Amino acid sequence: MLTTTNLRAWLDCLHGRLVQEKDQLNALDTAIGDADHGSNLLRGFQKVQEKLHDNDPPDIPALCKLVGMTLISTVGGASGPLYGTFFLEVGKSIAAGSTAVAPESFATALAAGLRGIQRLGKAELGDKTMVDALSPAIDALLANQSPATAAQAARAGLAATIPLVARKGRASYLGERSRGHADPGAASAALLFDCLATATPSS
Ligand code: ADP
Ligand code: MG
Repeated sequence: MLTTTNLRAWLDCLHGRLVQEKDQLNALDTAIGDADHGSNLLRGFQKVQEKLHDNDPPDIPALCKLVGMTLISTVGGASGPLYGTFFLEVGKSIAAGSTAVAPESFATALAAGLRGIQRLGKAELGDKTMVDALSPAIDALLANQSPATAAQAARAGLAATIPLVARKGRASYLGERSRGHADPGAASAALLFDCLATATPSS
């Protein structure tokens, strides 16, 4: 089972990795965007940490809602509403009052989160966005594979963005010149799954 405590550990891990890797994410976004992806996400997940210091959401849906609302209100840039919607939709897919969910239910909730991202951003697989890392990772979880395997799938999805031409977001303005660079949002999505693997029990 995945507990509220596991999800708090997930968020702690993400915040820590963003502190370490903010500059790398900004560098990826310098190549095909406006150099702020790492700073944007660190601002958002830092605010999440501050809110969790003062609030103790009683269950997983409440925790996901807090994360989603915070990301939407504090992250400038396209990624804030997208990741924010992701967490809001994940929360809505888990029964109110749940303090633990089965891995299969969590995978289903993550898939609902991804659908939320795609409803909002209209990106398909292969458009060189965060969807390219999120989608294979969530597919792995839906197929009952481990979070570690899902994290590997996200990394493979990230690598696969390098030769692609961006068709959504700021990078799409570059057209052919976006080829040859990894997508920053796919890189942050890979971090999300690294941390999920760190924060969740393996069996
Ligand atoms: P901005 O592009 O507004 O500066 P960020 O730099 O924080 O925002 O985020 C950029 C990332 O957001 C991209 O690398 C891409 O993965 C993701 N992204 C942008 N537009 C979309 C979209 N329509 N659908 C899915 N992901 C998107
Ligand atoms: Mg940017």
